[in-house]
Amino acid sequence: MKTTRGILAAALLAVACAGGCAGDSLSSAPAKIVRYDEPPLPAKAVPVLPNTPITPLVDPQCGDPTASLRPTGSAVGGPTIDAIRARGRLVVGLDTGSNLFSFRDPVSGAVVGFDADIAREVARDLLGSPDLIEYRSLGSADRERALQNHTVDLVAKTMTINCERRQKVTFSTVYLRAYQRVLAVKNSGINGLADLAGRRVCVVPGTTSLERIRHEQPGATILAVPTWADCLVVLQQRQVDAVSTDDAILAGLAAQDPYYTQLVGGSISFEPYGIGIPKGNDDLVRFVNGTLERIRADGTWTRIYRQWLSVLGPPPVPPEPTYLD
Ligand code: GLU
Repeated sequence: MKTTRGILAAALLAVACAGGCAGDSLSSAPAKIVRYDEPPLPAKAVPVLPNTPITPLVDPQCGDPTASLRPTGSAVGGPTIDAIRARGRLVVGLDTGSNLFSFRDPVSGAVVGFDADIAREVARDLLGSPDLIEYRSLGSADRERALQNHTVDLVAKTMTINCERRQKVTFSTVYLRAYQRVLAVKNSGINGLADLAGRRVCVVPGTTSLERIRHEQPGATILAVPTWADCLVVLQQRQVDAVSTDDAILAGLAAQDPYYTQLVGGSISFEPYGIGIPKGNDDLVRFVNGTLERIRADGTWTRIYRQWLSVLGPPPVPPEPTYLD
């Protein structure tokens, strides 16, 4: 037995050293050039230089930006509602690559998530079926333009309500209360906003997150990429040290790489989400607010929160609506 093992070991060594290893050492081996190609940055990634002017964070005055139109009941129609019913489907703008909010289910291929479910509830009340939706894929920076150009009926994409946006579009009442935070690599020494000075932070243009982080931490070097999914990739490739946006979006990124990444630090800002609707389509605003009233009251909101956002903790009380009149 011993002999057999000995012969086997010698044979394996002979095979392993066939390329020549007897007497080789690191110092005597001929120099080999080992090339390490840094992975490319995502297309359209733009470093935001530290001397780029920071837009002042003073939101134009509009009173409470989250105040919206009071619902009138689902029996009531209106020009926008009638047009959608005549078309037979609701055209919804969202991001199809946003984990937890709107992403393709790997088995069914359907767009699922918290934002997708909110849109489905609107379609259920408006058209009698949650499935009568046509999705248009939108990046963060495309949301306002899509609403202004009327290429979508509504936007359900983690969209913060603020006075600046209210000048261009209308919003439903608040359907989720998010808070901007930081996502970092575990044990990286980054424990919040203060540790981002001199570090590289990934954000997406056209978001409240970009202006907020530049304002709150001017010492950070910013890399702007087209989507939050791109931010996860550049964090994994060590091309940035952190990502900063809403906790709910960051939780979706962290869930895709939970051993490597974690949310750190407290809230940097309050980000109330609303459904974006083109200006002038007040009948649809009132209708969507009616759906939000229903899902707050009948437990649907809590069910979909539990289904998608449990990583953030147990479901809170649904956001209270504020009405203009
Ligand atoms: N809530 C932020 C915003 O509306 C970020 C969300 C996003 O990029 O989808 O700008």
